[in-house]
Amino acid sequence: MGKKVLLFRFQHETNAICPVPADMTAYKKSCFVLGEDIMKIPRSARVEVTGALNVLEAYPDLEVVPVVNMFANPSGPVTREVYGYVEDLLLQTIREKGPFDGVMALFHGAMVAEGHPDAEGDLLEMLRSQLGWDIPIVSSLDLHANVTEKMARCATALVPFENYPHTDVYDTAYAAAQIFADALYGKAKPVMACRRIPHLMPLYPTERQEIRPLYDLAHQLKSRPGVLSAGFTHGFFAADIEEMGMAVLAVTDGDAALAEESATLLAEAICERKDTLQDDYLPLDAALDMAMEPGDGPVVIADTSDNPGGGGIGNTTHILRRVLERNMTGCAFAVIVDPQSVAACEKAGVGATVQLNLGGWSDPAYSGGPVEVTAYVRMLTDGTYINKGLMAQGATMRMGKTAVLNIQGNTVIVTSYSWQPYDIEVFYSHGINPMDMRLLVVKSSIHYRATFGTVARAMLPIPMPGYIDPRPEKFPFRTWKG
Ligand SMILES: [Zn+2]
Repeated sequence: MGKKVLLFRFQHETNAICPVPADMTAYKKSCFVLGEDIMKIPRSARVEVTGALNVLEAYPDLEVVPVVNMFANPSGPVTREVYGYVEDLLLQTIREKGPFDGVMALFHGAMVAEGHPDAEGDLLEMLRSQLGWDIPIVSSLDLHANVTEKMARCATALVPFENYPHTDVYDTAYAAAQIFADALYGKAKPVMACRRIPHLMPLYPTERQEIRPLYDLAHQLKSRPGVLSAGFTHGFFAADIEEMGMAVLAVTDGDAALAEESATLLAEAICERKDTLQDDYLPLDAALDMAMEPGDGPVVIADTSDNPGGGGIGNTTHILRRVLERNMTGCAFAVIVDPQSVAACEKAGVGATVQLNLGGWSDPAYSGGPVEVTAYVRMLTDGTYINKGLMAQGATMRMGKTAVLNIQGNTVIVTSYSWQPYDIEVFYSHGINPMDMRLLVVKSSIHYRATFGTVARAMLPIPMPGYIDPRPEKFPFRTWKG
């Protein structure tokens, strides 16, 4: 008998101190696709929606009813309007196109909406109240999900990414969809165990040796007969909600005891090791000194505290200012977000020289203030490029109208939208060969490592003032009590 399922992606990673809300405009700038238009996505793109569709479309008698594909850049909370809009669309679809045999969700897991600190938990609970407890409701999750008690209770299975950089977005959604399809067709009866660990992880790359034993154990557990999935989330401390932290998620085929045992083993291993999972950071000047030394390939500095992929706005000027003060040359910046400066450059035109107060326009406590520069307008673009690296390969990145400036022998990409430039294609697509540079400064925390690692002599995260310092102990918590 044919099956009918709901499919939706509704994502946000919320940073409680970022003053920019995730409103309709923010979603429309990033990703806002409705209904059947979702199905137009090229199946070769390695993103979550295609991961799910490539599984579900292999079943000829399975009807997928797509509702929304919505993603906004990490920022302050999702507005009441956006949350209500998605909730209403889901309810309307259930009313008009139901009954449904299952729900395949593609959540991030760290969404805070106005009035809904546990946004994903509330949406899952709403789906259960509408559709009952007998159908599978499955979601993949970002590694930075804060898995709440309600999320774990209301979902049949939650499957988190494993890699940071998130090079396994597609594979995770694919794996989650396989569990979903097996449950739908009675090939498996997924049961999940969750262990929540109230530890705040810093932003930490999963390639580090110190964390690998935890993933080795997860793989071992996953290879046991009857285990469908075993993994854990790092959590996202900047969401600043009560239920934050790490979470282990183990899913088995009908064996609750095995799920509990697997989750306990992994949780115990995490608790033993969690305090060793900390990064080291150089002072900025030491990193700049290193870039000045001769060597093979550029030094890459991650301007991590202003990462638009974690709630930064992308306009802080601390590093740019210091590079100019030191009269360094051969440095390239991706990016400085400053729509006003882009407009001024557009007015002046390519080939013009302009005086700008560049960047630093947001909260002076964090932004570093604008830098007065004389800049040559080398290029104006629409700010789009297509990712070539493994992370969201084939996806189009949209930075809005963009200017490429020469400033004192350095190159600065100035954009209109906040966007994390994690794929090195940001430079190539804007006429900059990274190999010609001695220093690349990137507004990213960890994701850039996947593609910049191919050219970099060193990759150095340097925390400066910003909304997303990688160290949780630097965050000004208002809600979280520990
Ligand atoms: Zn993440």
